[in-house]
Amino acid sequence: MSTITLNVIPVPAFRDNYLWLFHQTGDKRAYVVDPGDAEPVEKALAERGLSLAGILVTHHHPDHIGGIDRLLSRHQVPVYGPSGGSVPQVSDPVNDGDTLTLDNGASFTVIAVPGHTLDHLAYFCDQSPVPVLFCGDTLFAGGCGRLFEGKPAQMYRSLSRLAALPDDTEVYCAHEYTMANLAFARAVEGDNSALADRITREQAKRDRQQPTVPSTIGLEKSTNPFLRCDLESVKKAAQAHSGEALSSGEEVLAAVRSWKDNF
Ligand SMILES: [Zn+2]
Repeated sequence: MSTITLNVIPVPAFRDNYLWLFHQTGDKRAYVVDPGDAEPVEKALAERGLSLAGILVTHHHPDHIGGIDRLLSRHQVPVYGPSGGSVPQVSDPVNDGDTLTLDNGASFTVIAVPGHTLDHLAYFCDQSPVPVLFCGDTLFAGGCGRLFEGKPAQMYRSLSRLAALPDDTEVYCAHEYTMANLAFARAVEGDNSALADRITREQAKRDRQQPTVPSTIGLEKSTNPFLRCDLESVKKAAQAHSGEALSSGEEVLAAVRSWKDNF
């Protein structure tokens, strides 16, 4: 597998979404992940002299696919995404474990991560000097997606698979939810000094109107309670809040997710 350098560009959309454009440095062919809206994507392409070469989709929610029809009316490009028909515009369905090789030479491993939705996929590329993960609404900076369709056990397994990726993997999630997520994380693990440090650093970025995304798998493992459900500290906090005895990591995740839903 050849080494490449991916340039990943945030395209802010709606209130707090990030659509992600990426291309190889020196190559004008760009791909967009989860184009919920077409106009900001067109603008970002034009500003940089890039041409759209393809679309990757993580899951079927409207803020991730709403711009696809409009983009396809102007660009004849493939749409990679879940098999099973949840996203009708998908021309090239992909499944867990597939290797998706794009025309620009970038290769992604497809990881099925059900939980937020049942069709949810993540795309992982380890060819660049720093590995890259596009994970939609599954793993957020400091949190995870709500369980609209899946069960806690599915989300637990999905997050465990992402946590097993290299620590330096850059995590490109789809929303700027970080500060609210970290405020909740502090309620769960008030004694976590890595978390306190992170809150200071991320708040400084927000004060400068900079994105807090991407984060890294290593940073998430040290500060994100949803990746820490096997730790005694998180289990104790979840038990204290729920008033229930919890044994497995899946049960802890279920309790923490439901706590966050009402936080
Ligand atoms: Zn979603």
